Formats: sequence, structure tokens, C-alpha cells
Amino acid sequence: MKCALVTGSSRGIGRAIAVQLAKDLGIHILINYASNDAAAAETKAMIEAKGGTAELLKFKVEDSTAVNTAITAWQEANPDSHVEILVNNAGVTKDNLFPWVTEEDWDTVMNISVKGMYNCTQAIIKKMLRNRSGRIINIASLSGQKGVPGQTNYSAAKGAMIAATKALSQEIAKRKITVNAIAPGFINSDMTSDLDEEQLRQMVPANRFGEAEEVAHLASFLASDKAAYITGEVININGGIYA
Ligand code: NAP
Repeated sequence: MKCALVTGSSRGIGRAIAVQLAKDLGIHILINYASNDAAAAETKAMIEAKGGTAELLKFKVEDSTAVNTAITAWQEANPDSHVEILVNNAGVTKDNLFPWVTEEDWDTVMNISVKGMYNCTQAIIKKMLRNRSGRIINIASLSGQKGVPGQTNYSAAKGAMIAATKALSQEIAKRKITVNAIAPGFINSDMTSDLDEEQLRQMVPANRFGEAEEVAHLASFLASDKAAYITGEVININGGIYA
């Protein structure tokens, strides 16, 4: 059975992507998350309510032992299944002006986005290479494209994801595996719930924040067969704030 692993899909953009992939592609979803069991169960219920199937796979993406243990155990329990689509979505912000960014906050942001992408991609890529098919979608950010003051750690992490996307895509294009990044601007989710949308939307030509579902439609297209010739791209979805 073909499966999609969506990291950080208990809430927000990851949840919307998990629901959309199940609906559009009829694919079994592995819902990864860090700690919020109730929210992850809700994502699963949302997928099942629309006739899809899903299971929970709890691990912290930055912990290579935890990632490998969980994915190896899942693969052994499901020998006929494989991860055809990987969405590296788990991410956090720890915003501060650079002089006050602690080493811990620097490492947390880098580890979850960049090491997490490395760990999860390493865990599934060999099988994709053998199968000569796959989709890897990295959720980057506007911050990793233009750089955002107060987010040096996050901009560095998302910029690294973009560069890795470009490099890896060229390594494995011949094996019919595409690797793309999505760079959202302001999207309504728990991550942005403390921001003042009334004020910040004035910076956005579309004059509003985006919705997680809008990002999910883009991810679903990139994950589909229709997007087979798109690889190494960074696709902005930001209401025109930066191109
Ligand atoms: P969110 O609402 O805060 O959700 C974060 C998700 O990541 C949750 O499912 C959380 O799981 C999971 N997660 C956090 N740390 C994790 C870890 N160490 N291991 C595994 N899962 C972990 O965030 P979001 O707004 O949906 O953001 C999703 C992605 O989009 C992130 O990479 C973010 O940087 C990126 N992004 C967001 C925006 C935006 O405006 N919202 C803009 C650009 C890019 P738990 O529920 O268990 O905590």
C-alpha cells in the first residue's frame, strides 16, 4: 500500500495537508506529531470522516533514534507498504532579535526543521530509490527566502531546507523522485495566532493571511502524478508579499 508520511500533522498546515492528500490521492496517511495526542487523533478522525485511512506515528523529528525506531517498526509491521510521499512539515519558531537568541533556541529551531528533514528523508529515501518513484515536499517559509528580522534562527533553518531541496532534487531526479519546497507567507495556524493580523495584513497585497487548506492544495498537486516534471522548485504561497 502506498502511504504518505506528513510530519507535524496533528495541527495547522500539516493537518490540512494530511487531510487533503487522503482526499485527493486516496492514500493512507501516517500522521506524525511530537506530543499532542488529542490533536493527532482529531486529524485521524477528520481523514476517516471523509472515507480515508490513517494511523498515528508519534516521534520527535529531530531525534534520529526515535525516527528510525518508529519508521523501522512501522515498516516491519507493514512489509507491503511504503512511503511514497514524504512531507517534511514539522517546524517551530523561537523568535528574538539576534543578540538575544539563546544557543538552545537556535538549536531547537535548526534541529526540528533541518535535522528533522535529514532524519525523516534518510529513513525513507532508500526505498523510494529502489522503487524509482516518490515525492518529497519540504515546508520552508517566506522567512527562508527573504530573511525576516527577529527570525535569524528560523530564516537560517528554512533557507537550509530550500538549499537542500535544490541539491537533493538534482541527485535523484533520474529515479523519478521529485523534491520541492513550499514557502508560505502568513498562514492562519497556532504558530501565527499571537500575531496581529489586522496590522500585518496591510503588508500583504492580498490583504489577508492565508489558510492552511490553501497550502494543502499546493502540496497535494506537487504530490500528484501531474507534477512529475516539477522538481527543485521553491513555490511561494504568500498573497503576493514576496516573489
Ligand atoms: P503549528 O500549527 O504550530 O503546528 C506545528 C506542528 O508541528 C504540530 O503538529 C506539532 O505537533 C508538530 N511538531 C512540532 N515540533 C515537532 C517535533 N519536534 N517533531 C514532530 N512534530 C513536531 O505550525 P504550522 O503553522 O502548521 O506550521 C507548519 C509548518 O509550516 C512549519 O514548518 C512552519 O515553519 C511552516 N510555516 C508556517 C507558516 C505560518 O504562517 N503558519 C508560514 C511559513 C511556514 P504537536 O501538535 O504534537 O505539538
